[in-house]
Amino acid sequence: MKFGGTSVADYEAMRSVAEIVADRRQKQTLVVASAIGGATDLLMGISKAVTKQDRAGLDTALARLRARHLQIASDICSVFPMTKSGQQQFDDLIKELQRHALNCFDAGEMSPAALDRLLSFGELLSTTLLAEVCRLQGLPAVFFDVRQVLKTDERHNNAQPDLTAISKCASQRLLPLLQEGQVCITQGFIGSNASGDTTTLGRGGSDYSATLLGTALNADVIEIWTDVDGVMSADPRIVHNPKPIPLLSFDEAAELAYFGAKILHPSSLIPAIGKSIPVVVRNTRNPEHRGTTILPRNPAPNPSGVCSISFKRNITVINITSTRMLMAYGFLSKVFEVFNRYRTSVDMISTSEVSVSMTIDDLSCLDEICEALSGYGKIDVVREQCIVCLVGQGLGQLPGIAARVFSSIPDVNLGIISHCLDRDNLGFTIPEAYLEDVVQRLHQQFFADVEVTV
Ligand code: ADP
Ligand code: ASP
Ligand code: MG
Repeated sequence: MKFGGTSVADYEAMRSVAEIVADRRQKQTLVVASAIGGATDLLMGISKAVTKQDRAGLDTALARLRARHLQIASDICSVFPMTKSGQQQFDDLIKELQRHALNCFDAGEMSPAALDRLLSFGELLSTTLLAEVCRLQGLPAVFFDVRQVLKTDERHNNAQPDLTAISKCASQRLLPLLQEGQVCITQGFIGSNASGDTTTLGRGGSDYSATLLGTALNADVIEIWTDVDGVMSADPRIVHNPKPIPLLSFDEAAELAYFGAKILHPSSLIPAIGKSIPVVVRNTRNPEHRGTTILPRNPAPNPSGVCSISFKRNITVINITSTRMLMAYGFLSKVFEVFNRYRTSVDMISTSEVSVSMTIDDLSCLDEICEALSGYGKIDVVREQCIVCLVGQGLGQLPGIAARVFSSIPDVNLGIISHCLDRDNLGFTIPEAYLEDVVQRLHQQFFADVEVTV
């Protein structure tokens, strides 16, 4: 069971989590939690303050973090004193966090490794407190440091999991505790590399931690508890009245996650797909709601063909024009070798006889990539774009889908259009300024008449 930032935002929220966990007591349960809502942003603020040498900014962010956590600790203690070891661990973490932030400030830099260490305090603090709240509710809860199990490569800030090591460590170190009947409370988002240094899986990575651990433990089900009634027909922050989706296939959910639906980390479905473990997305604030169940195949796909609309902001389109492409083979492999060299993934691609357009969202090596590509043709870079993606099982087989999509946005300038044979999505790029209007119009087109089945 994974609980996101809003689900552990304060003492009351943690108490609701403990009640939900207590309901599952007949099963062996691993709880994966995020940092308390807003904590990772505050830690990122500390990192920025270090880089800018802004001492006042650092002190403010540290004070806010301390105050939020101390408030939860004091709420716990107003009911019952924390365990000695829990209190000690909490005090030590607060001190270590301050020491680490100030050391980085004095050194005048925040290296990727130091940033990972800094960010890890968010999840370590929240789980220390959550374990106490769960004990208070009478659960046999133990704090478990996930870095013993969630092994990753060396890449700081966006580490890739080492599935073999995770599986081995999970069965050696975590499974025995679960089999003894302990409710293990552990951290999302963080891991450790082969040298034992702390790494992180990228923002929103706790979902990924949950599916990695659930899969390594051969869980019956992986539950992602968040602040909405499951996956919806579009992001509720953009669309009024989005429809909850009771069932999704792995492919549908993976496409939605990959193309920006913040509710699930882009890679989070991958481990579960490998072992066909159902993933259920549910609402901590409304635990009666059945949420969204994600299964290998959707037994009841949406008859309109579209189950949800997602989008990805901050996309850059790279366009290469070259007459050398005409009738030539091997051109694309040279182009992709450049992206491979700079470890930058391409989301969408479209080609004509003399040009190829691609989208990327990681701009860290953009200049180097453009420099290398300029050897193959004329390069244009178009910024401030976004991808809009319609997802639905069987969408590719329904005649007239493209006409419905594009006739609802006749006045919008489209960039790349992508629709693969036998895939569950239809995506396109547009300038970011149009995004909200386009998503709302498409939602109106495909969901205005859909009945909500709760
Ligand atoms: P958590 O802290 O629990 O991981 P997140 O904020 O990361 O929660 O993800 C949940 C949020 O995702 C929702 O509050 C909602 O604003 C957003 N979201 C984006 N797209 C969707 C969608 N298609 N369905 C539901 N929620 C979505
Ligand atoms: N706390 C991390 C973040 O805010 C990871 C997560 O919440 O999933 O990005
Ligand atoms: Mg999240």
